Amino acid sequence: MAGTGLAAAPLFSALSASAQAQQPVSPIGIGPFNVRAYGVSGVKAPFAPIQIQRRAVGPKDVLIDILYCGICHSDVHTVRGDWGSSTFPRVPGHEIVGRVVAVGNAVTKFRVGDIAGVGCMVDSCGECENCLADREQVCLKGTTFTYDAPDKVSGGVTYGGYSERVVVTEHFAIRIPPGMDLAATAPLLCAGVTTFSPMQHWRLQPGQRVGVIGLGGLGHVAVKLAAAHRADVTIFTTSPGKLADAQRLGAREAVLSTDQAAMARLASHFDLLISTVPYSFKMQPFMDLLKLDGTLVNVGLLLNLDGTELSGMSLGFGRKSVAGSMIGGIAETQEVIDYCAARNITADIELIRPEQITQAYERVVNKDVRYRFVIDFASSRQA
Ligand code: NAP
Ligand code: ZN
Repeated sequence: MAGTGLAAAPLFSALSASAQAQQPVSPIGIGPFNVRAYGVSGVKAPFAPIQIQRRAVGPKDVLIDILYCGICHSDVHTVRGDWGSSTFPRVPGHEIVGRVVAVGNAVTKFRVGDIAGVGCMVDSCGECENCLADREQVCLKGTTFTYDAPDKVSGGVTYGGYSERVVVTEHFAIRIPPGMDLAATAPLLCAGVTTFSPMQHWRLQPGQRVGVIGLGGLGHVAVKLAAAHRADVTIFTTSPGKLADAQRLGAREAVLSTDQAAMARLASHFDLLISTVPYSFKMQPFMDLLKLDGTLVNVGLLLNLDGTELSGMSLGFGRKSVAGSMIGGIAETQEVIDYCAARNITADIELIRPEQITQAYERVVNKDVRYRFVIDFASSRQA
C-alpha cells in the first residue's frame, strides 16, 4: 500500500470476484473508478442501471460499500422535476448505510470494517460562521448535497446513494453504533435528523403537546422521536387507513385532518406542530390549533407558500410563528443516531430491490408506504 495514501483494506480485497470485475480501475489510490448505480435520464423517466464515476479515495476520505439506502420524498421531488433543476443522469439517495472498505491514511474516525452512514450532504467550506457552528447544511459558501449538487472536489455533479459505493470525506460520514438494524437505521440519516432538529431547536419539553402533520417517512419518525421526548403526540393524516397505527408509533391519537369536529376540539391546543406535507396545503386550519406562542415548523419542501391561506390576523392575535427547518448539521446527525441507538428507535421500513424503485416512487406519491422504502443493496451484493 506504500505510496497510495491509503491504509490496508482487507475487506476491500475480500470483495467477490464479480464485484471486482466491475471495477475498470481499482479504487485503491489510483484514480477515479466506476460503480453501478440506479438513475434516471430525464424528468419522470424510469430508473435504470447506469455507471457513474466516484473519485479516488483521498487521504481524508472513506470508501463505503453501500448496503441500504432509503427513499425520501426529496428524491421523488428531484426526479419528478418539482424543484425545477435539470441535470441528468440523476442518481438520488441520501439515507445511506454501508461498510467502510477503504480509508485514506489521514482518516481517524473510521477503520476498515466499520459501519458508516451518509446523510444529505457530503461537503461544505468548513470555515464560514455556519460551518464553525456545526450547521454545515447552511454553509455560506454552499453546502454540497449528496446528489444533484455541484461537486467541488471532482467537478460535475454529485451522485447519491442509489449506487453500490460512495467516497466521502470522513467528516461527512456518521458512525453507526453496533447492534442497530442497519436497513431500518438508514432513514434516520435524513428523516431522523430533519424531525429531531426542530425538537431540539424549539426545546421540546416532556408533557408538551406536539402535532405531526402527514404520516409518511418523516412523519412516522417524528412521532417516535417526540414520544421519546415524552411529549403528548397527535398525528394529523389524510389517510383513514393510517389511523390505527397511532398508538403503536407512540401517539395519543390520530386525527383525520378533514374531520371538522376533531379539528375544532383541538383548537388552541398545541405547543409545536411539525408539518411534513410535501405539497402546498391549507396551513391556516393547523395554525388555529396552536396555543399562544405556538410554532408550526414546516419541513415539507414545497416550493412556495401559495395556497397555504395563512392569516396574518391569526398570527398576530396568537403571537404564533411559522418556521422552516432543513435537516441538521453533522454533529446533530450523529446526535440523533446515538439518541435512537440508545432508545432502540428505528424507522418502519419496506425493503425493496433496486429494480423496484420506479414502482416504489408511485406508492410514495400515492401516500402508500408504511413508512419508508429502503433499497436493499446488501442482498444484491451477496447474490
Ligand atoms: P412521504 O413519506 O411521502 O410522507 C409525506 C406524507 O404527507 C404522506 O404520507 C401523507 O401523509 C402526507 N401528504 C402527502 N401528500 C399530501 C398532500 N397533497 N396533502 C396533504 N398531505 C399529503 O414524504 P417524506 O419523505 O416524509 O418527506 C416529506 C416532505 O419533507 C417532502 O417535501 C420532502 O422533500 C421534505 N423533506 C424536507 C427535509 C428538510 O430538511 N426540510 C428533509 C427531508 C425531506 P398522510 O397519508 O398521513 O396524509
Ligand atoms: Zn431526505
